[in-house]
Amino acid sequence: MINPTMMPNWLKQRAFLTPDRIAITYGNEQITFSKLDEMVMRRARQLAAIGVRQNDYVGLLMRNSLEMVLNIHALLYLGAIIVFFNTRLTEKELIWQIHDSKVKWTICDDELQGFIKGQTKTINTTELCSMKESETEIVTTFSLQHVATVMYTSGTTGKPKGVQQTYGNHWWSAVGSMLNLGLRENDSWLLAVPLFHISGLSILFRSVIYGIRVILHRSFNANRMNEAIKKQNATIASVVSTMLQQMIEELGEERYPCTFRCMLLGGGPAPKPLLEACQAKEIPVFQTYGMTETASQVVTLAPEYCFSKLGSAGKPLFPVEIKIVQNEKTCRPYEEGEIVIKGPNVTIGYLNRSDSTSKSIRNGWFYTGDIGYLDGDGFLYVLDRRSDLIVSGGENIYPAEVEAVLLSHPNILDAGVIGKKDEKWGQVPFAFIVCSQNISERELVAFCEERLAKYKVPKGFKMVKELPRNASKKLLRRKLKEKLDEK
Ligand code: ATP
Ligand code: MG
Repeated sequence: MINPTMMPNWLKQRAFLTPDRIAITYGNEQITFSKLDEMVMRRARQLAAIGVRQNDYVGLLMRNSLEMVLNIHALLYLGAIIVFFNTRLTEKELIWQIHDSKVKWTICDDELQGFIKGQTKTINTTELCSMKESETEIVTTFSLQHVATVMYTSGTTGKPKGVQQTYGNHWWSAVGSMLNLGLRENDSWLLAVPLFHISGLSILFRSVIYGIRVILHRSFNANRMNEAIKKQNATIASVVSTMLQQMIEELGEERYPCTFRCMLLGGGPAPKPLLEACQAKEIPVFQTYGMTETASQVVTLAPEYCFSKLGSAGKPLFPVEIKIVQNEKTCRPYEEGEIVIKGPNVTIGYLNRSDSTSKSIRNGWFYTGDIGYLDGDGFLYVLDRRSDLIVSGGENIYPAEVEAVLLSHPNILDAGVIGKKDEKWGQVPFAFIVCSQNISERELVAFCEERLAKYKVPKGFKMVKELPRNASKKLLRRKLKEKLDEK
């Protein structure tokens, strides 16, 4: 019987169809798809020699590198399931994820091996490169229903959860992105976000599925990014706002060539001054919204709506449906509620967490835990996390909105807002701030009152040296709540 969810191994197929096209530029190296396949075959045989088998869970604790790319493809060639670990995790967090995912092996960069020794069987890059090869069978067809990768959420709202991403999730994510951005023969995607995040990994899969080049950077450097756009003909780049900010500053009076067609900006809301600076330099910014559970972007705002729909994350990709739900009912335009998503790129569930899975996936819809609304034209506006919502005297307050106002003060470097218990109002907003110089509470209140409705103005401020952030640099408001309770 024909199984409609099977397709050829992606890299094998690509190496067969367009063997001589460049797959990866890494430093001075240019590697074609056929060469990449050859290198991956060798790596697969080395991994087989250490005992990696089909359906094994294998951890990867690596920074962006050609070696990491080889390991990713080789593990898929063997039919193993890759569990990605963020290299910025603390030792404790890392060990927790290793045990939670029950990986059989962890492949790591040499310098990271010390963190996980004794917790899992490990092999470092140097050891792996010198392994003898052993004959093994290669997976020639991928089943879209099978799990290819597991990636942990950032752990912003609670403990990180291992998201199971199937081949189908990655496939539809790549197709959805292409139907939105188009595909050009000369496309080259600049990859300086981590490969252990879905933002980075999805670029690698797109490269193989589309047959385009990836310009791979080990880590982010604004100058090197700009050089890749100006001199190496990168046509698309994936960034978060702090990266883009630095790239613009570094660019100075110069411009990108007109071949550069898409700056894909994700991870969080984009500040207006940054969008204005990009417009002044004619940089085509596509804002996006997505998460680990949706295998990358699911909503995108095209540059022509950058200002007319300011603050919006855009419209869904072609295969994706979105609705806003409040008390089990679908909201009307402009009504706020939880953002729920349906589409073939949405996860089948969390690894070893049937309770979280059944809470998040209901009747075929994925409940994101984010609050937002759709406008009359169907554009999505993301407001904040449901768990961080502050309800004060029956009014909803979104910490992100208050934080954005505080951050617009020239002497406030960072801000985090949470709800504090209050006898009269139930909750009132309370702000933690990092300042470059002392600001009086009176001045802070006056500054906020000019820009926010009175009930949104924090009823207390605490100056701190720094705010708690996770390995993805996201603000941990739950840690601020603990701090407040300690007081
Ligand atoms: P956890 O699920 O463990 O709490 P996390 O949600 O931060 O962690 P990720 O999957 O890395 O883990 O991040 C996805 C989240 O990032 C989204 O659910 C959303 O809250 C936020 N986000 C992504 N893009 C945007 C955007 N354009 N605007 C606002 N928020 C965004
Ligand atoms: Mg999340």
